[in-house]
Amino acid sequence: AQERYASIRDKSGTTLDGTEINLHMNAGLMADLPSLDNSGAEGVGLFRTELQFLIRNQMPKRTELAALYSKVMDAAHGKRVVFRTLDIGSDKVLPYMTPQDEPNPAMGWRAIRVGLDKPGIMRMQLQALLRAANGRPLTVMFPFVAQFEEYTSALAEMEKAKARERALGHPLPETLELGAMLETPSLAFAPQKFFEEVGFLSIGGNDLKQFFFAADRENERVRRRYDTLNVSFLTFLESIVNRCNNTNTPLSFCGEDAGRPIEAICLAAMGLRTLSMRPASIGPVKSLIRRTNLSELRQVIVDARERGDQSVRPAVMDYLRAQS
Ligand code: PEP
Ligand code: MG
Repeated sequence: AQERYASIRDKSGTTLDGTEINLHMNAGLMADLPSLDNSGAEGVGLFRTELQFLIRNQMPKRTELAALYSKVMDAAHGKRVVFRTLDIGSDKVLPYMTPQDEPNPAMGWRAIRVGLDKPGIMRMQLQALLRAANGRPLTVMFPFVAQFEEYTSALAEMEKAKARERALGHPLPETLELGAMLETPSLAFAPQKFFEEVGFLSIGGNDLKQFFFAADRENERVRRRYDTLNVSFLTFLESIVNRCNNTNTPLSFCGEDAGRPIEAICLAAMGLRTLSMRPASIGPVKSLIRRTNLSELRQVIVDARERGDQSVRPAVMDYLRAQS
């Protein structure tokens, strides 16, 4: 399938009316890295680090992790890789951690909550990342941040990790970009100061959508019940874009919807300019972006919203059909 899109691989994801949409890929294993060149992705917008922890039967050592992260950076040869710190919860149980018996694991003790309550693991991972960079630029993103203070606490952990690395005589990254995932609705309403201070934000659409609609992403009965192109959700996403634009906060979207062409162009119409998706989606998404007049599409969406449509999908589909 990638061969089908080979002719546009090295072309930009620019709409017919001249807006560039930056396309990055999601990854989680070393084996994903060759896709960086094959797919034409500009970088790795989300590197899910938990896979490395899940495939082992004991806690990986700092040196092992550092070696792995270093290989990932080597394989990216200078392209940006956004490393997301460990996102485990009691649904993604590490064999070497005591399982938690939680009624709602997705809303339970997971991700940054574990990282801050058990800072040993997070510090170990942060040190491994700093060591792997070995002076090169480094980008780290904290998952599931629900309030400002969790982000500042994570930054404090990073400062400790830096101090330790410095004391051990290891070079610190040339530049260190730190950001957060926006995957709980609460963070969209964080104080202005949060938006000013966070290095960048990436919308985790999978989680954000499940919490926005209160519909479990793992529950077959409800997971497809609410459309991503539901007017309420798009309006919410647009408000996040506006807040980020007001503070010049770089924003991307890295949930599965970024890799669905129709959803992707609608995200672009809501103002998103950077999308991160599985590598195989880059070709199809870029292909549709390059055939889209974004301001026309935006008008279709605005009209559907004003009419009171529940989802903009029917209107968008009619519009696209009329184009072809
Ligand atoms: C998300 O929630 O959209 C996301 C990218 O993270 P994950 O799918 O790993 O929870
Ligand atoms: Mg998530």
